[in-house]
Amino acid sequence: MAAVSPAVTPISSHPAIADAQMLIGSGFVSGTETVETVLNPRTEETLIELPEASVEQIDAAVNAAEKAFTAWSRTTPAERSALLLKLADRIEQEAEGFATLEALNCGKPRHAVLRDEIPGVVDCFRFFAGAVRTQHGMVAGEYLPGHTSMIRRDAIGVVASIAPWNYPLMMAAWKLAPALAGGNTVVIKPSEQTPLTMLKLARVISEIFPEGVLNVLVGRGESVGNALINHPKVAMISLTGDIATGKKVLAAASRTVKRTHLELGGKAPVIVFDDADIAEVVEGVKTFGYYNAGQDCTAACRIYAADKVYDRLVADLASAVSTLKYNEVEDEANDIGPLISARQRARVASFVERATELDHIEVATGGRLAGGKGFFYEPTVVAGALQSDEIVRREVFGPVVSVTRFSDVEDAVAWANDSDYGLASSVWTKDVGRGLATAARLHYGCTWVNCHFMLVSEMPHGGLKQSGYGKDLSAYALEDYTVVRHVMIRNG
Ligand code: NAD
Repeated sequence: MAAVSPAVTPISSHPAIADAQMLIGSGFVSGTETVETVLNPRTEETLIELPEASVEQIDAAVNAAEKAFTAWSRTTPAERSALLLKLADRIEQEAEGFATLEALNCGKPRHAVLRDEIPGVVDCFRFFAGAVRTQHGMVAGEYLPGHTSMIRRDAIGVVASIAPWNYPLMMAAWKLAPALAGGNTVVIKPSEQTPLTMLKLARVISEIFPEGVLNVLVGRGESVGNALINHPKVAMISLTGDIATGKKVLAAASRTVKRTHLELGGKAPVIVFDDADIAEVVEGVKTFGYYNAGQDCTAACRIYAADKVYDRLVADLASAVSTLKYNEVEDEANDIGPLISARQRARVASFVERATELDHIEVATGGRLAGGKGFFYEPTVVAGALQSDEIVRREVFGPVVSVTRFSDVEDAVAWANDSDYGLASSVWTKDVGRGLATAARLHYGCTWVNCHFMLVSEMPHGGLKQSGYGKDLSAYALEDYTVVRHVMIRNG
């Protein structure tokens, strides 16, 4: 058991950020290395200064997970399920506290976290609690005369989970629920920018799960993350993050042939046919192109609009987007929050600046930094974009949507598929057959027809191409976090 050290003193007076310590085995400890400043992006206020984990602490966390694996992996699905259900109940009971903390650390509107993210997190744990008890597969039988074969689905070992900053608690849930349900033990590292809800979750999990089943480390990717993914006792690495980080995970995995589960971003195309309900498209893109200030790998950010509806769509979308509320003092009034950091905002701004240098680009609304405190950027619509433009090709990860005109459906489909990413896409048309035919031609992990960004725990979320290949949510995630084994018995 790790030694307990005193809590890091929060700089913000907000009570919700007390107790922000790492979990190693059954001990809550503070890191001993470089101090990271955790900010509230809405106010730019420092919330807490957290020292990151040392190499010895990373080693202790992996060892604790390895030690716990033997007993945890032999628990029955029913036992694991019961604990996951307890966890879901506790998160639901403490929804207000989790939402407050997530809102503080990410700058998101608190009401949106409470309405959208916390129920999703709770449902994720409940879903995997059920899914692990209802797994099915090939039947046992005599595939070789005189020998009975059976398939087992077993845990993998210690999973190193690396989470991003855009949905810290939800991404943690997507990683933890299938990993724990499958009988693995986990060492998770939240983003250095947004560790607070994971650290609160660690407190709750430590009261429910056996020692060492979950361990939480804080620190930067290049130091703590890098040491964790290269640890020889880690059997699987799960990352939601950037493509560049995914490549580092693959390099680390190759050294000891670890399994990997990668979710690496996206640049979702939205094909709007000339028979689409434009009011619905406008409402859909206004909501799901800008949700979480566009810091979403499925954001409806790359629109291809048919000639006939292009002008109306640009005009109506610009007018709708200009009504989005984002830096109101009264948080209840906000639709979206700021970017996560000054750096991320500068990145978004530079994309728009470079786009506006092109003669064919028209900024239909937005296009500037918002004044005052907080890392806000105006919700922006960039019209007249061409397929070759950077703003169409690269992930901006901010409140910026591009609109490109098409006159030939073949071009729209080809342009939509012409991307390094392959996570999410949508098609808007009143013709169901046309919608389904187009969906079949899109090389994306998900295609929505006449909607966008609708997630359910039963269905997989994950990409193709450089968006990665791990599936989150659904029974497919449980497959990703477990291994198939064959046991053969010679009869008699
Ligand atoms: P990032 O890759 O910089 O960081 C993600 C996590 O990886 C962080 O915890 C970070 O500390 C860690 N990390 C960074 N370098 C590392 C290294 N060398 N070794 C180990 N860990 C390392 O990405 P981000 O900026 O936090 O998140 C935004 C990115 O994540 C975007 O590109 C977005 O599209 C993607 N994303 C994808 C999904 C999805 O489901 N596909 C969901 C959310 C975010």
